[in-house]
Amino acid sequence: MKLLKSLIIIGMYKTIICDLDGTIYLDNHLIEDVQSEIQRLQSIGTTFHFLTNNTSRSLEHYVKKIQTLGIETSQEYVHNPTLVSSNYLKEKFGENSKAFVLGTNEFKADLEKYAKAQIINKNPDYVLVAFDMNLEYNKLRKACSYISKGVPFYQTHIDNFCPSEEGPMPDCGAICEMIYLTTKIRPIKNFGKPSPEMIRYFKTIINTKETFAFLGDRLNTDIIIGKKLGAHTIFVESGADKTNMIKDCEIQPDEIFKSTSQFLKTL
Ligand SMILES: [Mg+2]
Repeated sequence: MKLLKSLIIIGMYKTIICDLDGTIYLDNHLIEDVQSEIQRLQSIGTTFHFLTNNTSRSLEHYVKKIQTLGIETSQEYVHNPTLVSSNYLKEKFGENSKAFVLGTNEFKADLEKYAKAQIINKNPDYVLVAFDMNLEYNKLRKACSYISKGVPFYQTHIDNFCPSEEGPMPDCGAICEMIYLTTKIRPIKNFGKPSPEMIRYFKTIINTKETFAFLGDRLNTDIIIGKKLGAHTIFVESGADKTNMIKDCEIQPDEIFKSTSQFLKTL
């Protein structure tokens, strides 16, 4: 009976998509025993994808970080808005586009690699704001100047803060809010969860006709994109959002768990 139940549930979730910050780890520490639960499910055929909105580090960094924490994965299973932004900007502005970027050196290197963009300080084709953990006032001022003169303005993702062990850190959304308060102009698009661009990208990655689960700690990004992709959505209480926020949300998660490992243990 137990075996039958397992087969049915595994059949239900051949694929599980997990957010990272606040869902799998906080800073450099795994949340509970998530690694052993993922390993157990991987050994019986479940595929795990990891989808973060975090653009502070290179794509390669997230792959290595997950691996270093003891979870088996590779580049094709780890996703963030960098590739989605790059694809869109390359399509819209062509190769060698001139990008004024508020972002870390790792992010800029990824943009050069995937969008074939040139990172410049003068006469940009567009301004792109990422999770810039090296934010400088003069660069922020320059971004506001370009944006106020009509240069197209994009953001990698909408998160206002990133959870950490020491509390919330200002993220891409909060930086864009400073730009908005200064210029009264909002980004034209974002490329993270739950944007249409990210949904389109993810539909090319997984088979959305199968039943799959989406786990995340944010209602306005993880749970919304999970629903839009057609996933069974699980809100975890180990990260950014609090359970009492759910009642004010238009879109409700299908289930609520204390942590990712608590959910995985039920499978
Ligand atoms: Mg998160």
